[in-house]
Amino acid sequence: MEDKSRSRDPLEILVDGLAGDLWDLALEIWRFAEVGLKEEKSAKAQISYLSRKGFSVTIGTGGMPTAFVAEWGKGRPIIGFLGEYDALAGLSQDAVAERRPLAEGAPGHGCGHNLLGVGALGAALALKTFMEERRMGGTIRYYGCPAEETLVGKVFMAREGVFNDLDAAITWHPGCINTVQLGSSNGLNSARFNFHGKTAHAAGDPHNGRSALDAVELMNIGANYLREHIIPDARIHYVITDGGGQPNVVPARAQVWYYVRAPRRRQVEEIYARLLDVAKGAALMTGTTFDVEFLAGCYDVLPNETLTFLALDNFKKVGAPDWTTEELEFARRVSETIDQGQKSEMLRNMNAPKELYDQIMNTTVVDPLDKGKVMPGSTDVGDVSWIVPTVQVSVATWPIGTPGHSWQIVACSGHALGLRGMLVAAKVMAMTGKDLLENSSVLEKAKKEFSERVGDERYKSPLPDGLKPPLGQFNRH
Ligand SMILES: [Zn+2]
Repeated sequence: MEDKSRSRDPLEILVDGLAGDLWDLALEIWRFAEVGLKEEKSAKAQISYLSRKGFSVTIGTGGMPTAFVAEWGKGRPIIGFLGEYDALAGLSQDAVAERRPLAEGAPGHGCGHNLLGVGALGAALALKTFMEERRMGGTIRYYGCPAEETLVGKVFMAREGVFNDLDAAITWHPGCINTVQLGSSNGLNSARFNFHGKTAHAAGDPHNGRSALDAVELMNIGANYLREHIIPDARIHYVITDGGGQPNVVPARAQVWYYVRAPRRRQVEEIYARLLDVAKGAALMTGTTFDVEFLAGCYDVLPNETLTFLALDNFKKVGAPDWTTEELEFARRVSETIDQGQKSEMLRNMNAPKELYDQIMNTTVVDPLDKGKVMPGSTDVGDVSWIVPTVQVSVATWPIGTPGHSWQIVACSGHALGLRGMLVAAKVMAMTGKDLLENSSVLEKAKKEFSERVGDERYKSPLPDGLKPPLGQFNRH
């Protein structure tokens, strides 16, 4: 038999040594399944583990009790690993290949963030141990970022400046393809518009009333006309969250909740400003007034090719996760619950290599497929990527074609199938961090690429001055 261990990187060996702890921690967070800004137990479990391992931890970053920064080491470079650990409402699910909630209606890890956080934490810890053994200089940080699903965590952390002195940021996302991302994602603004009118009897004296619902409807009509005159890649979506109480009362209050998304932050701002004018127009037409509750805003992702190809080289050394026959059998059963038409469509849209169509789990490492592409969704990793060169690895932890935010993802994220992918992610990220510590020229190249891409569009927080994190509410993004 071939002795694989001889060619293994020391960081792979270190991550394998931590595997037991990392599996336990990821499963613990999977069971907690706490939604954004409520991740108290999930944050605490990571904080106490990292403290035991010699990291100094600052808790409450950006005014969020479940955000923290764990640090070890001295001097430069400073390498940051970004972790997330929020769950999604209503997706509770056991680690089995059929729909079976653990607690009906409760949250579940439908985006695999239990793996995401612990994988990044594992990379930070393995790299710290490696540096300690070799008495290397440099600083390692693990950023405990809450509420990614609501696009809150990293944006509020960024406003506090905690990413400003980093030399590079490394993160990953669980997924169905083994690759490193080179694409971008949409920037976003999320805001609620509250219209205020005057109540009246809708039959008796409607002339005395001023309908806030009319204003909401006219605003939506205005927004729908606006669509023709904005870039086609932008997205505007809304829901009416309050349309009044009953038909015979002219509504004095009504509310509509909007998202505006576009490939670049400045485009989001330009379209959002025009949407504010639409709201003004609706208020003017109806004799009402309005105020805006700004909920969240984030940047598009700024890719960094230097870091992407550095991480890809490491990924090719580590290879795809080496699943057991039982794990692959589980994947096959999960895959049977997935629409195969959707799977092929997804692969076609990605321009995926042919061999992927026949795979259930991705057993190869694929060159980036998304150069120049913009994922229509949004992530708050975008904000970090505009502050410091950032790379996002993607490791297969669920079958190809699995829909996002689904019970299937919850099942795989609580199963050895996903946990094995998490260890691969930790290895690839730790090795990439080590390269950046040891090879200053690649770090300089990444930084140079970063400044060229940023140009004169320096990061400016999307948040209005004085806005506090929405600790009391849970918004769905
Ligand atoms: Zn996610």
